[in-house]
Amino acid sequence: QTHFLSHSLQAKMSRPVQARRLEGIDKNIWVDFVKLAATYSKVNLGQGFPDFPAPDFLTEALTRALGGGNHMLHQYTRGFGHPPLVKVLAQFFEKLLGRDLDPMTNVMVTVGAYQALFCCFQALVDEGDEVIIIEPFFDCYEPMVKMAGGTPVFVPLRPNPPKDGKLMSSADWQLDPAELASKFSERTKAIVLNSPNNPLGKVFSREELGLIAELCVKHDVLCISDEVYEWLVYDGKQHIRIASLQGMWDRTVMIGSAGKTFSVTGWKVGWAVGPDRLLQHLRTVHQNSVYHCATIAQEAVAQGFQRELMLYGKPESYFVQLPKELQQKRDWLIQSLDSVGMKPIIPEGTYFLVADISQFKSDVPDVPNSDEPYDYRFVKWMVKNKGLAAIPLSAFYSEAHKNNFTNFIRFCFAKEEATLKAAKDILQKWKQEKTSS
Ligand code: PMP
Repeated sequence: QTHFLSHSLQAKMSRPVQARRLEGIDKNIWVDFVKLAATYSKVNLGQGFPDFPAPDFLTEALTRALGGGNHMLHQYTRGFGHPPLVKVLAQFFEKLLGRDLDPMTNVMVTVGAYQALFCCFQALVDEGDEVIIIEPFFDCYEPMVKMAGGTPVFVPLRPNPPKDGKLMSSADWQLDPAELASKFSERTKAIVLNSPNNPLGKVFSREELGLIAELCVKHDVLCISDEVYEWLVYDGKQHIRIASLQGMWDRTVMIGSAGKTFSVTGWKVGWAVGPDRLLQHLRTVHQNSVYHCATIAQEAVAQGFQRELMLYGKPESYFVQLPKELQQKRDWLIQSLDSVGMKPIIPEGTYFLVADISQFKSDVPDVPNSDEPYDYRFVKWMVKNKGLAAIPLSAFYSEAHKNNFTNFIRFCFAKEEATLKAAKDILQKWKQEKTSS
């Protein structure tokens, strides 16, 4: 009897436990690299979050929400978004898009931009659908498309280095119009656009967005527009919202993040803005998965937006001040990297920049025929031996194209002056050791 029981229990245990939709997406670079940075780094320019404080007006709003008279802020709120937050987001985006928005049907609040992305893929992508992803890309797009049963189709931004010996800019990475057009077919359901782009910092121009829009309209394709870095644009460049282009509002979901907008990545408040015909399906996914995110965080973000609406375009606006400060930090890191020969690609937006490690490769020998891309090995070595954390660029490429881009690493410059200075000291010391050896 006992023997029979243990046998049958064992037989049950051998059934596959993992759902088929998880096949091939179980590896994730953030798990490895975040752990590595936590264990070894003295200076962490890896993952994208600020190490400086959030603005006072926002933390004060949170404190008020927490301890103020309204104890209902500790309870559930409206599932698709706390009313004050969807209302102010609608007002804000009405101004930016020049069209009327209904807070209840054109805006949905999510658990970070991450969940807005997840809702898009689950709600809009069907088995067998193709989704175009522009490389390099924020890495979660690929597994999210696959989990929905779709097939990612990649199209690269191709670098054209300037001939005059100047530093490359993210604007030198461009889509080949014919190549992009060749990826659209009757199977294409959507394209993911991320401008300003993580990891390059590219801010797509009006012409580039026009080309994408034209193809979307021609092939009746949806656009999932990840705009979490919408306020982080430098050198007087302008962030253009693809939803404002002809024929695009009805087919676009815009995604934003309070984490990136107000330097509070840990709050995990994000949103989706778009036409009801698309958002109604995102609401179904949201309702049946997370329901909503923390009420008090939504309340404080709503107050942050009310402040920004009042100060819109004025010098005191956080959306004016933050990019100004970050541009200085960007220039500082560019100078530090350039001075040691780790050539940076100047980002037009975001708080990331990508740098060329070619001149440092002799310190970190390649292992021929290894499964691991070279830049992964380089970053691991750098964290362990120099205490400086970054992220390998090839992490932002599909498996098939990873090996073409193993000479670059990504740094985050949303950091205190002291952190950036410590990074510079590490790089300079390393460079000196190289020249003297
Ligand atoms: N999209 C992009 C391009 C990002 O870089 C990030 C965060 N690194 C997200 C979405 C996720 O944002 P959130 O933290 O609001 O979920």
